[in-house]
Amino acid sequence: MSKNIQINTSPYSYNAVVGEGIFEEQVKEISDSFEGDINFLLVDENVEKYHSEIIDKAFEATGKRFYLMSVPEGEQSKSIDFWTTCVEFLLENGVRRNTPVFVMGGGVTGDVGGFAAASALRGAPLIHIPTTVLAMVDSSIGGKTGVNHSTGKNLIGAFYQPKKVVADIGFLKTLPRNEWTNGLSEILKYGAIERADILDRAQLFLEDDLSPISHENLIELIADCIQIKADIVEKDEFEGNIRAYLNFGHTFAHALEKDCGYQSISHGEAVYLGMLAAIDLSNQLGADLKPDKLLKYRSLYRYRVSKDQLSLEDLMNHMKFDKKRTNQHIRFVLLKEWQSPVLKIVESESAIHQAWQTALQEI
Ligand code: ADP
Ligand code: ZN
Repeated sequence: MSKNIQINTSPYSYNAVVGEGIFEEQVKEISDSFEGDINFLLVDENVEKYHSEIIDKAFEATGKRFYLMSVPEGEQSKSIDFWTTCVEFLLENGVRRNTPVFVMGGGVTGDVGGFAAASALRGAPLIHIPTTVLAMVDSSIGGKTGVNHSTGKNLIGAFYQPKKVVADIGFLKTLPRNEWTNGLSEILKYGAIERADILDRAQLFLEDDLSPISHENLIELIADCIQIKADIVEKDEFEGNIRAYLNFGHTFAHALEKDCGYQSISHGEAVYLGMLAAIDLSNQLGADLKPDKLLKYRSLYRYRVSKDQLSLEDLMNHMKFDKKRTNQHIRFVLLKEWQSPVLKIVESESAIHQAWQTALQEI
């Protein structure tokens, strides 16, 4: 079984395909659709290590010359230096405006590789092959590419849409457990802001080993999340208002990540707490939401930081200096009800304090 989602953006429409065991045939089909005799692949080092056989086989079957570059794991690859290395790799090996650049891995590889494809020759055709749950449901969709700068994360980059996204859940077999929960947070986010059934369907993450039926359910769940993101991005490609709903839980999360030096808490772990804080803040402003829908997944999150390592004052300061802040007050995505997000400027610092207290009880 595989699922196709059409994503309409201003330059063109393209498809995301989700399935299992679809990688080889997709690589061949995509390669055939471009003239020229070269394929490029930028691939996460761990994905290459675990899946080199299938990767080599798939690209050999295209009959074209094949240039592969490995992307070291970790955030340090999202740097100007490594972006330069990627662009040089493409240029020195003869990239043309119609040479496909396949970018395969998690969010890190997708961001830096996507930006290299966006900038080499002012743009070579980009194909995303996300291999983490997070990249499948979130970072490979929507056209954001880029790298970090010493003054902050994701400050250099471009909106650049891929020609296709291929999400093959077969690659998830080797994905470490904590990386699954990273993706789960974004899935729960879609459930909270848009589609109630997703909050229940995510229960397959509670299984130790996915049964065959769960494989199909996972494909459908990922496809539905991609559809939600695609619908939102379509309405608001360059991040005005509606796209901000995708930041549910993220104002709190970014502060936490920053306070932990982007080391001792993962994005997904931070987003999970951030959503609990956003729910508490929503309730203080008149909503009546029970957090159980999220709390039933609590056991999957194994926090390496504890509450007493965090300072409320620092967290508040980090929020005030979030790059997405529009004025001196902090803008949050809150819920009026489940699946009914609103953007709200909250002036009361004590309400925000209270929200932090509630969320941080969980760690
Ligand atoms: P994210 O998608 O969460 O932003 P990263 O790009 O940082 O994450 O990838 C998270 C980690 O998972 C990295 O160590 C990366 O090498 C590894 N990884 C990515 N995909 C796979 C996979 N399919 N199997 C095993 N490890 C993987
Ligand atoms: Zn996120």
